[in-house]
Amino acid sequence: MVVNTGALRNKLRRTRRTGVSNYTTAMQTIWVGCDSCSQKTSHLVLFEVDDGGPSDDGEVYIDPENGYCVLQCEGCKSYSFLHKHSYLVSEDGWETTETTDFIQYPRRIVGRQPIQHSNLLPPQVQRIYFETRNALCNDMNVLSGIGIRALVEVVCKERNAPGKDLQQRIDGLVEKGDLNAAGATILHSIRTMGNDAAHEVKAHSNDDLSTAFDVVEHLLMGIYILPAKASNLPK
Ligand SMILES: [Zn+2]
Repeated sequence: MVVNTGALRNKLRRTRRTGVSNYTTAMQTIWVGCDSCSQKTSHLVLFEVDDGGPSDDGEVYIDPENGYCVLQCEGCKSYSFLHKHSYLVSEDGWETTETTDFIQYPRRIVGRQPIQHSNLLPPQVQRIYFETRNALCNDMNVLSGIGIRALVEVVCKERNAPGKDLQQRIDGLVEKGDLNAAGATILHSIRTMGNDAAHEVKAHSNDDLSTAFDVVEHLLMGIYILPAKASNLPK
């Protein structure tokens, strides 16, 4: 959308004078991701405050404007918080385009729900699992890579997999029957990713991290969650 720079600046000046502008309780709706419904759903905007103000970095063509909303999913009724950040971008120095970023809290990745029955994971595994998931949802790609490797490491330790380093311990999981050879090959790739993140401060792509996290979740399901649930089946 192309906007008039002067008009937006006037709007920002009015906003600064009043401090809080556009206070509303109108039931507007917005389609954003829902962590519980695991997809984009219609959300009611229960409350919104716009807090306009120019950038203080001296840039003439970037005027940020912030809006803060309390949302409620119309499907599962869960609440979340939305930060709308609008700013002007000019590529040629004359015509400006208004761009808005939307950031939801708690941060989420649409379609990636936490692993089910996570209460069946050992406490230390559970803790590293959720810390790594939070890093993933917050676009912390270096820490996500380190966390995914740490998850593999803590599983090997918890299962007493034999070996003097992680490479040998992953093979040790195969010896113990916790993992098949194909699974070990994938975990070795994840180990290498984690090494790059930890030692080279390498940020892997979202797609690669998402795939690696899928694999580790599958490992956790196979080693801890499914056996615990299966133990309750009638003999
Ligand atoms: Zn929902």
